[in-house]
Amino acid sequence: MSAFVIQNVRLFDGFRVHDGPCSVQVSEGKIERIESSSSLGTANRLSVIDGSGCTLLPSLIDAHVHVFRGVDEVKRALAAGVTTLFDMHNTPSNATYMKDLSRQSNELPEVFSAFHAATVDGGWPRAIVRHTTDDPTILASLADYPKLDTPRSAFEFVAKNKSMGADFIKLMQESAECLTFQELPAPSKELQKAVIDAAKEHDLLTFAHATNLRETLLVLDAGVSAMAHQFFDQAHTEEVIASYKKTNAFVVPTLTAISSMMGLGTAKTWAGSAQADKLLTDSSRHLLCDCMRISSEGCSVQYAYRCVKALKANGIDIICGTDSGPTIHGTALGAAVHLEMALYVEHCAFTPVEALQSATSLSAKRLRLADRGVIASGKRADLLLVRGNPTEDIKDSTNVEKVWKAGHLCNVH
Ligand SMILES: [Zn+2]
Repeated sequence: MSAFVIQNVRLFDGFRVHDGPCSVQVSEGKIERIESSSSLGTANRLSVIDGSGCTLLPSLIDAHVHVFRGVDEVKRALAAGVTTLFDMHNTPSNATYMKDLSRQSNELPEVFSAFHAATVDGGWPRAIVRHTTDDPTILASLADYPKLDTPRSAFEFVAKNKSMGADFIKLMQESAECLTFQELPAPSKELQKAVIDAAKEHDLLTFAHATNLRETLLVLDAGVSAMAHQFFDQAHTEEVIASYKKTNAFVVPTLTAISSMMGLGTAKTWAGSAQADKLLTDSSRHLLCDCMRISSEGCSVQYAYRCVKALKANGIDIICGTDSGPTIHGTALGAAVHLEMALYVEHCAFTPVEALQSATSLSAKRLRLADRGVIASGKRADLLLVRGNPTEDIKDSTNVEKVWKAGHLCNVH
C-alpha cells in the first residue's frame, strides 16, 4: 500500500477545525502524521494530493442501517463518504456474507452487525417486513426470527449471536401504539433486562428500537446502551431526560426514517436539491423520495426534533444514524447521513461541527471503534475529502471529492 500526502487542506480532525492549511501523511493504511506546513510531500517525495479549497474529515459512520444483500446500495454508501455501517437486524447468513465481503473489498464500507434482533413470537419487525416487501425469500426468512420468552432464552440468544459473530445486540420494543399496525406482542421489561444483562456479560452494546415514549422509558430503565430511534408520539418529559442522564445511554435519532414513517416530504425535498443530486442514482432517488407512512394520527416530527434538541442541551450523546436500507422507503444508504446531519443543524440546534462530530469522533467513541472517526497519528486512514467547508455550511459535506477506506482510495465516481 502506497504512502501519500494530502496537502494544503482545511482539516476537521473529528473534534475541531485546525488553524490554517494542513498536510496529512498516510502510510500503510494509517495516518502517519499531521503538519501545518505544506512541505510534507515534497520533502518526503511522496505522491501528493492537493487539497486546496477542500476540507479533509474522518469519513462518516452510519450507526443504524440494514444491509441485507444490497451490495450495490452498500457501495453507494462508500461513494457518499460513509465507511462504517452498523447493521441493526439481519439474517445470520446475510450478516455473515456482508461482514466478510465488506472486509475483503475496498469498495464497500465496513459492516458491523447485530445479526437477528431479540424478537418475540409475532413481534416487531415482522409487521414492517410484510408491509414493505413481497419478496418470497425475505418473507420465508421471518420463520427463523428468534422467539424469546424466558430470561433463559434471552441468555441463550445472546450467547448464540455472539458465537456467530454479532458485534452488538438489537432489542425490539414495539407494541405499535403509535403505528398503523394492530397491537403487536412486545417483550416485557424483565425479558429486555435479561437480554441486556446477558449482552453486558459478553461485553456487547445494546440498541433498542422504540417509537413511543412509554416503551423508550421501559428499555432505558432496563439498562439499554442506546435507543435506535427517537420517539415521536408525544412531547418529551423531564423523566425521559433524567432517565438518559441516569443510564448514560445515547440516542441514534434516525430523523430520516421518522420523516418517512410520517409520510413527510423532507427527504423528497432534499433529494431535489443541488447538494443531494450528486450522491443519488435513479434507483436510490426513487427509494428516498418514497415514504413508509406508518405513523398514527397525533404523532409529530416536531416532538422528535424538540426531544433531540433537549437531550443534546442536557449533555446526552446524539449519534448519527438513518435506518437506511435497500428496501426501506424514504432512505438512501450513504446519502441519507448527509440529510440526517443537515436535519440536526436545521431543527435540533446543532452547529455544523457538532453534526459532523455525531457522525465521526463521537460516534466512534460511543460505538467503541477506537481505530477510526478521528484524524490523528496511528488511526485508520478512513478519510473524506470534500470541496468547500462543511464545518461552516453542513451542505458542503455532500461535495465529495475523494474517499479513502483504510488508506485505499475508493473508486467513487
Ligand atoms: Zn432499523
